[in-house]
Amino acid sequence: MFKVNENYLKLPGSYLFSTIGKKVREYKEANPDKEIISLGIGDVTQPLAPAIIDSLHAAVDEMAKKETFRGYAPDLGYEFLRSAIAKHDYAARGVDIAIDEIFVSDGAKCDSGNIQEIFATDNKIAVCDPVYPVYVDTNVMAGRTGTYDKNTELWSDVIYMPCKAENGFAPELPEETPDIIYLCFPNNPTGATIRRPQLQEWVDYANKNGAVIIYDAAYEAYISEEDVPHSIYECDGAKTCAIELRSFSKNAGFTGTRLGFAVVPKDLKAGDGTSLNALWTRRHGTKFNGAPYIIQRAGEAVYSEAGKAQTAEQIAYYMKNAKLIKEGLAEAGYTVSGGVNAPYIWLQTPDHKTSWEFFDYLLENANVVGTPGSGFGPSGEGYFRLTAFGTYENTVEAVKRIKAL
Ligand SMILES: *Cc1c(COP(=O)(O)O)cnc(C)c1O
Repeated sequence: MFKVNENYLKLPGSYLFSTIGKKVREYKEANPDKEIISLGIGDVTQPLAPAIIDSLHAAVDEMAKKETFRGYAPDLGYEFLRSAIAKHDYAARGVDIAIDEIFVSDGAKCDSGNIQEIFATDNKIAVCDPVYPVYVDTNVMAGRTGTYDKNTELWSDVIYMPCKAENGFAPELPEETPDIIYLCFPNNPTGATIRRPQLQEWVDYANKNGAVIIYDAAYEAYISEEDVPHSIYECDGAKTCAIELRSFSKNAGFTGTRLGFAVVPKDLKAGDGTSLNALWTRRHGTKFNGAPYIIQRAGEAVYSEAGKAQTAEQIAYYMKNAKLIKEGLAEAGYTVSGGVNAPYIWLQTPDHKTSWEFFDYLLENANVVGTPGSGFGPSGEGYFRLTAFGTYENTVEAVKRIKAL
């Protein structure tokens, strides 16, 4: 009889969002007259910008004609998109990234999950706590994380870097040296960022210790402050130690359309001199048949003058919500962070409530849904995530209700 990959059986299961869904359904059934507002949305809600839609339509029409029909896309991405990325995301910020260092994909979730395949299973990973769950779970699947302790909710072979109010939600350099360091800034779930000199410390640390940084910059378009880096390659020496993951999902509303990319510099080498760029090229060629032509054309439109202006407007809409939530909660006496360079607001639960106690309290008394911080890791206990992805009207109403508690 066949056997399954035993590593999958170690996964603790996705408790967080299924439990939230269940609690909200039960509350609705018991209270059908109440209007629930979700500030727990981790997805964009604004429709795709007109410039993107126009480009999509034009690309669809090309697919209808014999002369312009396209089959398989190049598995690393079309040159028109890769050169737009190199120009607008990197050259414009003084960073020199070559086209063959850019790997177009169907999103950063896949990339952040798949990238660990090119590393040895005995490499040690370091993650922030709280954390985007994909980083840990995919390493569990690969058998890289040791054993799970149900009480502490920690894996024996993972180095955790707690991010709490005391350190400004920024990880500190770990005592034990990791091989692979996952960083995500602006951060989901805390909404925190780090400044360029702080990120430079990580780059220097990784270079000195022979570690690789996997830098998830899915929220870079939400950065509003000057000295917050949009790319890790703004730091000196990052090309010899960092892979960067980007996504069109939150930046341009592609969550349902699917487009992202990874940057794997040619200077990035493992201890034995093996080029990660060559390995990732091989991996893409073997397991990926390219993002769709029409979607890559839509992605190209994000970098047009109209596309830039329109997506900036959408981000401003969400960030207006973020400001409203942050300021409203601060006025109501909550301790809040995030919400300045990220669409996430991270608050400390009042009266020493656990994250789940506060979830129930907010659902029952304000009919507002958010996300318990403890669901992202044990250091998230006592914290709660609200998101700016709702409508302005709902956000105003939700903040009003929370202030009235
Ligand atoms: C939403 C999100 C992504 C984007 O994933 P896609 O697969 O590109 O939609 C990546 N990383 C983090 C931390 C996210 O929150």
